[in-house]
Amino acid sequence: RRVSGAEERRLLELLAYGLVALGAGSALLLRFVPMPYGRYSSPRFGCPLPARPAWALQELPSLLVPLALAACGAAAGRWPNRLLLGGFVLHYLHRALIFPFLIRQGKPTPFFTFLLALLFCVYNGYLQGRSLSNYAEYPSGWLKDPCFIAGFIGWLVGMAINIHSDHILRNLRKPGETGYKIPRGGMFEYVSGANFFGEILEWFGFALACCTIESLAFALCTLFILGSRAKQHHQWYLEKFEDYPKDRKILIPFVY
Ligand code: NDP
Repeated sequence: RRVSGAEERRLLELLAYGLVALGAGSALLLRFVPMPYGRYSSPRFGCPLPARPAWALQELPSLLVPLALAACGAAAGRWPNRLLLGGFVLHYLHRALIFPFLIRQGKPTPFFTFLLALLFCVYNGYLQGRSLSNYAEYPSGWLKDPCFIAGFIGWLVGMAINIHSDHILRNLRKPGETGYKIPRGGMFEYVSGANFFGEILEWFGFALACCTIESLAFALCTLFILGSRAKQHHQWYLEKFEDYPKDRKILIPFVY
């Protein structure tokens, strides 16, 4: 039996609620165990995989699944849908095919973390890809709507902050170095989790531009997960560096 449009819409809605629950559950768990990759990488979570191929492979489904769905989606040809799908795909084009190859001496990713990230990218790739390529409907003139424009700017600025902050982190290490230093410059002057702040802003902007429950769920999930990681990094810096800037916040400039 073929799944009807109404049934698939309901499925997407349930998956969106599932994503928020997943993010909230992870945030709870991450209060006790830091997310096991990068500086918290541990062999307890499976055999260590080299950082570059692990990042590329785990993120690839969020690039390929939406592209495949766009090829057969009924709404993928409309301009708002096309642009929004393009934004999502552009992020993952960078995350899967550029970011991994720029990493310098990154710590290995344990297999379990890799698997979770891979499953997350399949789940979310389907959720965002299917919602935007087949179901999201926009009134004519949506591209001139303040909601779309503000969201698009938020997405763009967030992505720029994310990429710039990751660039700062990368350049803290000279070739061959594996240790950690205090990040300086850019948004790191304000928050310890500057790259995470950028990514969160990016997906909330995207959610505003999309106005779908699926995109909002992704933004909330990102907030839960990366908010926890930013807090762990902040505490880690305070413990490791006596001269860590005292007025630097965790995630949101001047606020938190
Ligand atoms: P981190 O900030 O933990 O690390 C980023 C890179 O910079 C790593 O290679 C790390 O090395 C290096 N690095 C970090 N801090 C320092 C320092 N003080 N001195 C020297 N080198 C440093 O980021 P993540 O790895 O957690 O995330 C990478 C990207 O992926 C980010 O842009 C993030 O937003 C995104 N992401 C998105 C998620 C989502 O839910 N949408 C989930 C997870 C990540 P090392 O590996 O040795 O620690």
